[in-house]
Amino acid sequence: MIPAPFDYEVAESVSHATELLGDRDDAKLLAGGHSLLPLLRLRFARPSLLIDIGRLSELSYVRDGGASIAIGALTRHHDLANDPLVQEHNPLVSHVAGLIGDPQVRHRGTIGGSLAHGDPASDLPAVLLALDGEIDITSSGGVRTVAAADFFRGVFETAVGAEELVTEVRVPKLSGDHVWSYVKFRRRAQDWATVGVAAVARRSNGGVDAPAISLVSMGATPLRARVSEAAWGAGESDPGAAADEGTDPPSDTNGSADYRRHLARVLVGRAVEEAMRT
Ligand code: FAD
Repeated sequence: MIPAPFDYEVAESVSHATELLGDRDDAKLLAGGHSLLPLLRLRFARPSLLIDIGRLSELSYVRDGGASIAIGALTRHHDLANDPLVQEHNPLVSHVAGLIGDPQVRHRGTIGGSLAHGDPASDLPAVLLALDGEIDITSSGGVRTVAAADFFRGVFETAVGAEELVTEVRVPKLSGDHVWSYVKFRRRAQDWATVGVAAVARRSNGGVDAPAISLVSMGATPLRARVSEAAWGAGESDPGAAADEGTDPPSDTNGSADYRRHLARVLVGRAVEEAMRT
C-alpha cells in the first residue's frame, strides 16, 4: 500500500528536531525507517509530518563513559556490533546487535529507534532491561534519564513523550568476572525472536551474584524472569523451570502462548548454561 500523504522535514540538530516536534501534534521521527516505513505503508501510522533525524551525526557515537558505555541514539546496529569499545566492555550488546534481522536491517536500524518503537519482539530492549541500562530522553526543556525498567510501558508504548526524542543509551561495562548469554529462538535465520533470553551475572565463589534474566516476546514489554533469576542465584539445577511465571505471551503465526511458555522454560535453562561457560 502507499502511505497517506505527509510533510517531510530534515532535522539539522537535536534542538531543531525538538522544535519541529513542537510544531505538530502528530509528527513522527524517522531514524532508520525499518520499523516506521512498514507501518506507514500499511497506514497503521498516519503522521502529518515526518522529521528525518537519520542524518544527525551528532547522535551516532560510542563513547567511554567510565563505568558505562554511552551510545548515541542514531548508532546503527551494524556499528554497535562492530565497535571495539562495545566488543571489549559489553560483548553482550555487540553480540545481540549482530543478531538483529539481516545485514540491510543492521545497516539502517538504530538503537534509539529500536528502543523508542517499543516492540516486545525486539532484541535490544530486553538486553537493556537485563543490564539495568539508562536512556536519555531530550525535549526543548532539557534531558531526563529513564531507567530501562521504567522505559517500556506496553506494546509500542514507551516513556518517550510526543515532543521528545531518545538521544543516548548507557550500558554498564562488564568485568572479566561477568558471565552472559543471549539465546534467540526463531523459525528461520534473520527472523524476529519467537522467544529470546538475555542472561547476565557476576561469577562469585563458585556461583553467581546479581543474576539478571530478561525475556523477549513473552508479554507486552520485555520482562525480567525474576523466579529464574533467584533460582540461578541459589544455584538450583533447573533455573528455567518457572521462567514463564508472571508472563503473558502472545499467540501469533510464530507460535502459541503455550509454546512460548515452553520455549521460555527451555531457553532460560540453555542461556544460564551457556553463560556459565563464558
Ligand atoms: P524507525 O523505523 O525510523 O522508527 C521506529 C519508531 O521509533 C518510530 O515511531 C519513530 O518515530 C521512533 N523513533 C526513532 N528514533 C527515535 C528517537 N531517537 N527518539 C524517539 N523516537 C524515535 N529488530 C530486532 O530487534 N530484531 C530483529 O530480528 C529484527 N528484524 C527485523 C527484520 C526486518 C525485515 C525489519 C524491517 C526490521 C527488523 N527489526 C528487528 C527492527 C529493526 O531493528 C528496526 O530498525 C528498529 O526496530 C527500529 O529502528 P529504526 O532506526 O529503523 O527506527
